[in-house]
Amino acid sequence: MKVTLLGTGTSFPDPNRVQSGILIETDKAYSLFDIGSGVLHRLVQTQIDLNSIAGLFISHFHIDHCSDFVTLLQTLWLQGYDKHLQIFAPPPAKEWLRGIFEVGMPFYRDKVVIEPYILREHDSVQSGELSVSTCPTTHGTHDVRAFRIEHAGKSIAISSDTAPCRDIVELAKGVDVLVHECNWLDGSTPKGVHTSPSELTSIVEEINPKKVILTHMNPDVIRESEKVLSIVGRRTDAEIILGVDLMQFNL
Ligand SMILES: [Zn+2]
Ligand SMILES: [Zn+2]
Repeated sequence: MKVTLLGTGTSFPDPNRVQSGILIETDKAYSLFDIGSGVLHRLVQTQIDLNSIAGLFISHFHIDHCSDFVTLLQTLWLQGYDKHLQIFAPPPAKEWLRGIFEVGMPFYRDKVVIEPYILREHDSVQSGELSVSTCPTTHGTHDVRAFRIEHAGKSIAISSDTAPCRDIVELAKGVDVLVHECNWLDGSTPKGVHTSPSELTSIVEEINPKKVILTHMNPDVIRESEKVLSIVGRRTDAEIILGVDLMQFNL
């Protein structure tokens, strides 16, 4: 698997980080995990053949995870995309897609053939050569999925947006790479929405991955990044890395 972090930012404006998106390649087939604002631009920067995108996973319908969806459709259509685009997403996808294609932007309805699949809380699906398992996360009142992706004996987990969450720890146990959100610094932040560095320390200790990549970081986290990395790595031997847009690695 070749993994490209397309966007490592949040909804807080950051000149160097666009919103959430991760691209995974296996043998020239591509799957996308979230498509927030700016992700299409990053995707084009990778210079991949967009016609090789087979599946799009949307973790939830906060705007920083899905807002480039229609712009992606427009681009695929203009480039003569000739496949069926599989979309994997939690149940609100039904209303969301209906809103786009029947109310908001019916012009795009037939431009690209899409195949929606509604992800149950605990589900397992195949996208190209990737085996993807899901679990629900803890993120306010929103219905969100985290992902564990496996291929050829290697594994990566993507937390999506979440506060510390038992289901994610179980889903991600022993993965090679954990891509986990670290939305804000320790302090007086609302409970049950996002993860702070100190909370991530325990999560990493339990999951015990070989490598941890922080993503979904607001500008405060970036400013304090050295401190954040040392907090997250306090009780693990795993390599702890600050995610950067367009960072690539193989596993
Ligand atoms: Zn969210
Ligand atoms: Zn988010």
